[in-house]
Amino acid sequence: MVVVMTAEANAKEIERVAAFINKHGAKAHISKGEERTIIGVIGYKHQVRKEHLSTLPGVEKVIPISKPYKLVSREFKKDNTIIPLNGVRIGEEVVIIAGPCSVENEKQLLETAKVVRENGAHLLRGGAFKPRSNPYSFQGLGEKGLKILRRAKEETGLYVVTEVLEAMYVPVVAEYADVLQIGARNMQNYELLKAVGRIKKPILLKRGMSATLNEFLMSAEYIMSEGNNQVILCERGIRTFVEYTRNTLDLNVVPAIKKISHLPILVDPSHGTGRRDLIEPLSMAALAVGADGLIIEVHPRPEEALSDADQTLDPIAFKKLMQKVHHYLSWQQSYLESNVEASEIEYI
Ligand code: PEP
Ligand code: MN
Repeated sequence: MVVVMTAEANAKEIERVAAFINKHGAKAHISKGEERTIIGVIGYKHQVRKEHLSTLPGVEKVIPISKPYKLVSREFKKDNTIIPLNGVRIGEEVVIIAGPCSVENEKQLLETAKVVRENGAHLLRGGAFKPRSNPYSFQGLGEKGLKILRRAKEETGLYVVTEVLEAMYVPVVAEYADVLQIGARNMQNYELLKAVGRIKKPILLKRGMSATLNEFLMSAEYIMSEGNNQVILCERGIRTFVEYTRNTLDLNVVPAIKKISHLPILVDPSHGTGRRDLIEPLSMAALAVGADGLIIEVHPRPEEALSDADQTLDPIAFKKLMQKVHHYLSWQQSYLESNVEASEIEYI
């Protein structure tokens, strides 16, 4: 259920509704909007009754939410969630996250960071703790990799995104990272989701490779239900019978998520295709369906990359991609400014 307070409701009334919800064993999740406050009721149906809540002072209406996810839904929050980060407003403007699959050494990361920054990336990605399918493959540099990420941030000013694999590592990763990534393999690691839900940094949640849209959103709900509203979703391809590509990039979910959730949704065409030659067309397709940004793997010398070499762009290919992206975005801007009805272009 969602309790919508009147525009005039004062702090005391809001507090009283929250206390009423908590007293009955449910959890009140207060979200203060520009005009009014909305309180999400998290718990079981029998704990708090709609008709009781409706009688409290300052309550305008109580809306039952039929879906299992509440905080992530547009019914709960009408406006897009915007996450401001180092000059970029994720959810409002297209964000480009780029960098190597893995942090390999300082030279490799600094070279990559400079290249991606020069070409307009907003954030630097790079795995320090790597979830590899093969136990004998490179597992990442661990904390040493986090330190290298920090160095790259100091050198370039780029904020960093890196994966956290286990709940016990959340504090150390949060010390170095500006955005914590939950990888596809961990999308349903509920203890990890709860742990990142308790921190105050944005979380990039990648879709599990066999996860339905509902399961994906439920995982975001886990993070938000612990109090962290800064969740960025990421479609990274799902398993299908297709062999030509590593995964099938499910672009359907982008406009679908825009409809049912207020959270930003990025697309990762690198893992989504597994093929460097398909990254550019799928990046453009992702932007055309309304993605809030892209995550691209880049390495100064992809042939030497210790992980995901086949899907990694070299600096020249990344530059070319970014030129296309910028060209598309300026075309889109002039399209929006032309006399086209806004309703026709809602998700473009
Ligand atoms: C990654 O982004 O480095 C990664 C491992 O991706 P995924 O979890 O989507 O496989
Ligand atoms: Mn990778």
